[in-house]
Order: sequence, then C-alpha cells, then structure tokens
Amino acid sequence: MRQSLIVANWKMNGSIQNNQSLLNSFKQNLASVQHADVAVCPSFVYLQQVSDLLKGTVMTWGGQDLSQQNNGAFTGEVSANMLRDFGCKYVIVGHSERRCLYGESDQLVADKFAKAQSAGLIPILCVGELLEQREAGETENVVKRQLAAVINLQGLASLGNSVIAYEPVWAIGTGKTATPQEAQDVHAFIRRQVGEVAEKLQILYGGSVKGSNAAELFAMPDIDGGLIGGASLKADDFLTICQAAR
Ligand code: PEP
Repeated sequence: MRQSLIVANWKMNGSIQNNQSLLNSFKQNLASVQHADVAVCPSFVYLQQVSDLLKGTVMTWGGQDLSQQNNGAFTGEVSANMLRDFGCKYVIVGHSERRCLYGESDQLVADKFAKAQSAGLIPILCVGELLEQREAGETENVVKRQLAAVINLQGLASLGNSVIAYEPVWAIGTGKTATPQEAQDVHAFIRRQVGEVAEKLQILYGGSVKGSNAAELFAMPDIDGGLIGGASLKADDFLTICQAAR
C-alpha cells in the first residue's frame, strides 16, 4: 500500500497573518486526517514561519521551485541547500506555471530534479499536457517526454525517491477538473512508464481539486493524493481534501 500524500501549493499567496491563522486552524483538526501525509509549500519568504508553525507536528513543508545551480551570482534564485537549511522535505519542480510562464524546458526541470535529490530533497515532479495537446490526442506523448528528460539524466531508479504530480494544465486554477477516469488513465500510464519503481511511486493528481471532488479522485487506484493550489488557501476546504484521502 502506498501512503497518500496531500501537498499544498500556496503559489504567490499568503501573508504573515493569513499563514498563521490558516495553519493554526488546520492544525487544530490535524488528528482528523488519518490516511494522508500532509505537506505545505509556501513562498520562500515564509519558509521560516511555516517551519516554526509546523515543527513538532506530523506535517512537513517544501519549496515551490529551486535553482539548478549550487550557489553564486544568480540573483533572485534559491538553492537546494538553502531549502534544506529551512528544513524542507520536498520541492516542487516543473510546475506548469514555471514551464509555461517562465519557459522552463524539460532539460532544465530535469537539472532541478537532480539538484534537489543531490541535496537530499524529495522532488515533486509536475507533468501534464496543455488543452490543445489533449485535444490532439498527445497527452501520453507529452507526459512520456517530460518523464524521459528526468529518466535520461538521472536513471529510472531516481524516480523511486521522488513524487510525481500529474497536473493537466487545462485543469489548473480553472475550476475544470479531469474526471476521475481521465486522471486515472494518465496515472496508470505513468505507472507503466516507471518500471521497477512503479509500486512504491506516489503519483498525485493536481488541477482544481476541491472538497467536493477529492474523494472520487482519491478513490481511483493509481491516484495517491493531490497537489492542491487554490483550495489549500482555505483551511476548511484543505481539511476536507486531506480527510478524503484513502
Ligand atoms: C497547482 O497549482 O498545482 C494546482 C493544482 O492548482 P489548483 O488546485 O488551483 O488548480
């Protein structure tokens, strides 16, 4: 049995005050989350605050991105070791907003994945197709290409120490969710691509997961939890999602 995992991606949202009330309210109900590990990925500037609020709980935290470089003259960048300094367990790599808005290539995402692992972080590798790619029947090719960049650089076994998030780009922040069967089909496809690590690899679904649709998504056999954007900013919604994990 794979352990379920629910990851909050706060994106560029939050404030000192809101983060505190959100996490305090969530923590009060943490005991009701019985079947999932829960992690929070805030903006870098709030990592210290989030680690202070979550230390001593079963919750963990991570970064939303990292540099492919170790250190040096890279203004604005954040390294894997810096994330480690703040107690991060995870780091998201290749989120579609990074790929689409900031032009991150498959190769750059693979380099970031490698850097995360070499620092002892668990990369959460996001993959997923655009709407036009889905409509053109290209979903599996796109996901396969995104996975191949990492496999070619790091080897298949490296995926055993990572998490994959399947996030159809057309479902992120749009209110349109993949149906449980559409998501399941791609999750099963991903699992078939990863050979010997298939059984242990956690594959999360992301894309407009809400309290009202989480249970049916998480009931699918190859969906091991979720990467949650908008709904992770509301304590009640996020709690309902975490409680829906199997
Ligand atoms: C995400 O950003 O990873 C995401 C899934 O966002 P949302 O839940 O808002 O669609």
